[in-house]
Amino acid sequence: MADTTIPPILVPAEGRTKAPAPTAPRSTARSKELYERASRVLVEGVSSPSRGTANYRPYPLFMARGQGGALIDADSNHYLDIMLAYGALIHGHAHPRLVAALQAAAERGALFATANETEVEVAERIRAMVPGVERVRFANTGTEASMGALRLARGYTGKRKFIKFEGHYHGWSDAFSVSSNPLPLAAVGHRNDPIPVPDSSGLTRGALDDTILVPWNDADRVERALKRHPGQVAAIVTEPVMANMGVIPPAPGYLAALRELADRYETLLYIDETVTGFRLARGGAQERFGVQADIVTFGKAFGAGFPVAAIAGRAEIMETLRWGGVLHYGTQNANPTLLAVVRESLAMLDADGGAAYRHMDALAERLVAGLRAALAEVGVPGLVQNVGPMLQVMFLLPNHESVDAIRDFRDFSAHVDRERFNRFAHAMFAQGVYLSPSAALHSVLATIHTEQDMDRVIGAVREALRAV
Ligand code: PLP
Repeated sequence: MADTTIPPILVPAEGRTKAPAPTAPRSTARSKELYERASRVLVEGVSSPSRGTANYRPYPLFMARGQGGALIDADSNHYLDIMLAYGALIHGHAHPRLVAALQAAAERGALFATANETEVEVAERIRAMVPGVERVRFANTGTEASMGALRLARGYTGKRKFIKFEGHYHGWSDAFSVSSNPLPLAAVGHRNDPIPVPDSSGLTRGALDDTILVPWNDADRVERALKRHPGQVAAIVTEPVMANMGVIPPAPGYLAALRELADRYETLLYIDETVTGFRLARGGAQERFGVQADIVTFGKAFGAGFPVAAIAGRAEIMETLRWGGVLHYGTQNANPTLLAVVRESLAMLDADGGAAYRHMDALAERLVAGLRAALAEVGVPGLVQNVGPMLQVMFLLPNHESVDAIRDFRDFSAHVDRERFNRFAHAMFAQGVYLSPSAALHSVLATIHTEQDMDRVIGAVREALRAV
């Protein structure tokens, strides 16, 4: 793996983490007050259910400011941020180079909704960084890009069904709102014949009937599904690393097997790199695992904190979008102000042969080793799974202590103690480290993080483990 002595080369000192040790006792009185006010005008007092009291107890922390690796709440408590807006902030908060790019672009006019040079430059950069990309179409969010990608796969192949994996999340559009996080485990049936569980009310039968549900990390089951629906499958749709059920790496050879099956059964391989794109390597998971998709989507780290997403892939397939043959519109598509930030961010990630990725991998190695040691030291049964700078601590339920790996959604649901993780996350807040309190999500690192930051997280984990 990478050399752990690589310094954080990308950022001048002022862009680095400045998270002082937490002040005790910590008050969150202002968050409480804001939550009461918010509850009178916002549903659940928030703008996405994951930010509400399902995860945050007894009320969400209201964040006021971010600087480098630090997040500062409405009561002026400082946190070292390893949630980083679900991975979007690959360079941390308010990176000076990105702020300068944003300001300069905003002064030229926010939005034209016309062709513009910035979109050409960013598309060229994507093509240079990501294997197999010949054409790009910009969108705004991961949800929107995945909706477009599925429509594209259907339009290109003339087929309607698609394979979706249990526990994978591709945004909240109708077609994908099936078995993203189905509970309880008793409701999902046997592995050989998973019962599709709608994620939401308000879906039509049509949206559900075209989804073929399969457990992940098992190529034989994918082949069985393809045989059961001959000639009907537009695409195998997969996250390359399961990132919405902790962090679950693909089994060795699994992604290559999906590629081979897609070719043999004349269907497309659509890899949703919303999380992994520009995060795991310059060429994302495709580069890291040596696999090539027909269609790929990007969001999160690609947008460096802004709502910018993309659909990309082989020219022959992407050209189906021409003249709205497969329709995809958007007033905000290729917003030149936001793309100016993305252009700067990608230049930083592409520099020095991808040194940013070597830096994040080295930090992750240090952090993961420290977390495993902390679990052993405090005597808490748990696993730490990671792929480079995406990582998650998974506490094991009583009587499941011998489990040595989580390989799919069913493993996760059978063995992982979600409630304990939530308590652990709240104890981490008290230690001045911010992470998602949902066991099914994960933590990430940024280019601006340092070895000292990792050691601080490890120290906080040791204290939080003792507390839970
Ligand atoms: N695809 C994957 C793999 C995701 O993890 C997410 C969000 O978590 C999405 C798509 C949706 O992205 P967005 O939240 O930008 O709509």
